[in-house]
Amino acid sequence: MKYVVVSGGVISGIGKGVIASSTGLLLKTLGLRVTSIKIDPYVNIDAGTMSPLEHGEVFVLDDGGEVDLDLGNYERYLNVSLTRENNITTGKIYSRVIERERKGDYLGKTVQVVPHVTDTIQNWIEEVAHRPVDDSGCEPDVCIVELGGTVGDIESAPFVEALRQFQFRVGRENFALIHVSLVPTISGEQKTKPTQAAIRDLRSLGLSPDIIACRCSEKLEKQTVDKLAMFCHVTPDQVLVVHDLRSIYLVPVLLEEQKLLKSLDLKIQLNTILLPPERA
Ligand code: ADP
Repeated sequence: MKYVVVSGGVISGIGKGVIASSTGLLLKTLGLRVTSIKIDPYVNIDAGTMSPLEHGEVFVLDDGGEVDLDLGNYERYLNVSLTRENNITTGKIYSRVIERERKGDYLGKTVQVVPHVTDTIQNWIEEVAHRPVDDSGCEPDVCIVELGGTVGDIESAPFVEALRQFQFRVGRENFALIHVSLVPTISGEQKTKPTQAAIRDLRSLGLSPDIIACRCSEKLEKQTVDKLAMFCHVTPDQVLVVHDLRSIYLVPVLLEEQKLLKSLDLKIQLNTILLPPERA
């Protein structure tokens, strides 16, 4: 099982969901089975009790799970049917930890964010990632994990720490990270500083981006991409430009034009799971 984590910096609503779904779609074009998990670091158990004015419309899954709209994107882009467990929230994780604590499952230990909450997050991701989500009834090859919110927020800290540990649990060759960041244009100049700061924050938490997806209003100039690469300690090939498009369904094409799959292949060796004999 390969994991592609999509996180975001600078601001919320930056396009993580669209980039995560598009990445899943591109992986599907290779013949891979793709599933997804959305992490929402709020304390609510699910989106069902949240005002649509604040949160946006709730998406209802086949099992009745009331979840974030991004899960709808995943179902449409990937042609899969997800369950409420594909949406992890702080509320669900704490509820599971407290339930186990009351049953005495921790055998007298002091229950802590690290390792008990972070272990629960990792176990949840690993268990749900292996569940079949399409008509084939087969286990997926790749799981896209979208971390909602912004890296650096208090809310997302246990999830960031869990993902930091997770890359070692599953092996670095099975874990790729796409960090979505903002490159604003101020007085006609493309500004790289917010992304430099976002990547510094990410690295200080123990996560290194394999791809930096830069959201911007217009295409970035080559010198902006080169500058981002230099200051963020990646190659220019690892900096992808995701400017505003008239339709979000054009994002997969834009990512593939910039060789997203090739970059992912370099990190997580997709060829090792591509077209095994029974599917060739
Ligand atoms: P996040 O997951 O970071 O909260 P979303 O993926 O939900 O962000 O996107 C936020 C909004 O921006 C959505 O309305 C989405 O349609 C829009 N959006 C995302 N990417 C693009 C793009 N490249 N061009 C135009 N609109 C986009």
